[in-house]
Amino acid sequence: MSDGNGSGSRHGHPDLAAVRGDDDVIQPFMLERTGVRGRLVRSGPMVDAILTRHAYPAPVAQLLGEALALAGLMSGMMKYDGMFTLQMVGDGPVKMLVADFTSDGAVRGYADFDAGRVAALNLDDQAPNAEVVKLLGQGRLAYTVDHQGARDRYQGIVELNGATLAECMHHYFQQSEQVVSSIQLACGRLTEGDGTERWRAGGLMLQRLPEEAGERTVEDPDEDWRRSVILMSSVTQTEMVRPDITAHELLFRLFHEEGVRVFDTWPLKDQCRCSRERVETVLMQMDQDELQDLKTDRGLVEVTCQYCSTVYEFDDAQIEALHASARRGGQRGSG
Ligand SMILES: [Zn+2]
Repeated sequence: MSDGNGSGSRHGHPDLAAVRGDDDVIQPFMLERTGVRGRLVRSGPMVDAILTRHAYPAPVAQLLGEALALAGLMSGMMKYDGMFTLQMVGDGPVKMLVADFTSDGAVRGYADFDAGRVAALNLDDQAPNAEVVKLLGQGRLAYTVDHQGARDRYQGIVELNGATLAECMHHYFQQSEQVVSSIQLACGRLTEGDGTERWRAGGLMLQRLPEEAGERTVEDPDEDWRRSVILMSSVTQTEMVRPDITAHELLFRLFHEEGVRVFDTWPLKDQCRCSRERVETVLMQMDQDELQDLKTDRGLVEVTCQYCSTVYEFDDAQIEALHASARRGGQRGSG
């Protein structure tokens, strides 16, 4: 990654540890002069843990990092108690990519891709943004909100026809009847003080909410919106991810003329929802042939969580016990 001042790898800030306190958060804010709302997503340890664990090729990791930042921005704009899922599918080297957020801030994600086809693209692994069309081909992005206790799932579908993920979202916001929005996304590796490269991701979104119109104190809402978007687009990819700029500093830097009011942050954590019990429930529904396919050389049935790479192993006796309990009516007894 690079920006105008070439300080992308700067480190050694004396207050770095303290600054980290506002990492892995969604920071909502409002521009007081115009009523424009926004959200900033900043992620360090969370996105680094997810991307490092997967060890995907850099262009795939970068795309997943941007998708996680985008999911953070979009999930933050909905009021829900449950799960927000962003899924991209395509006919390109990356077949599927998923980022999901629970309303209590547990985040996970994965990509399913053909490593040979990704390598054949010869993409620049220092590119400022992921090349979404090259990676996914003809693709689309779908987002769903599963609200606990509600029957309806809210769903939106975005055709992937921009050079970057943020551009695809701009096309979508322009075409749909969504609230007018503007988005910036960034994900890249920065070399930290100890010489280790770590992934970081950031996202910034502005929204022009119709209900704010009545409260405006200025004459020209279109001009207000344009000015806000221009201010936002002055952010560099590196500023979006640098750990030594706090969320508040970044917002002030961009929008101080507009008056920035920040609201409570929403903390994010790298946390999967898989468990041995959930895997057992799936295995109980499989027949012997399907189970045989999951057996490793060591004769164990092995299931790896695609999100967090946790491996769950079951020996024959454990499988038999599961099936015995399934025969008893699906209720697992105490033994
Ligand atoms: Zn998992």
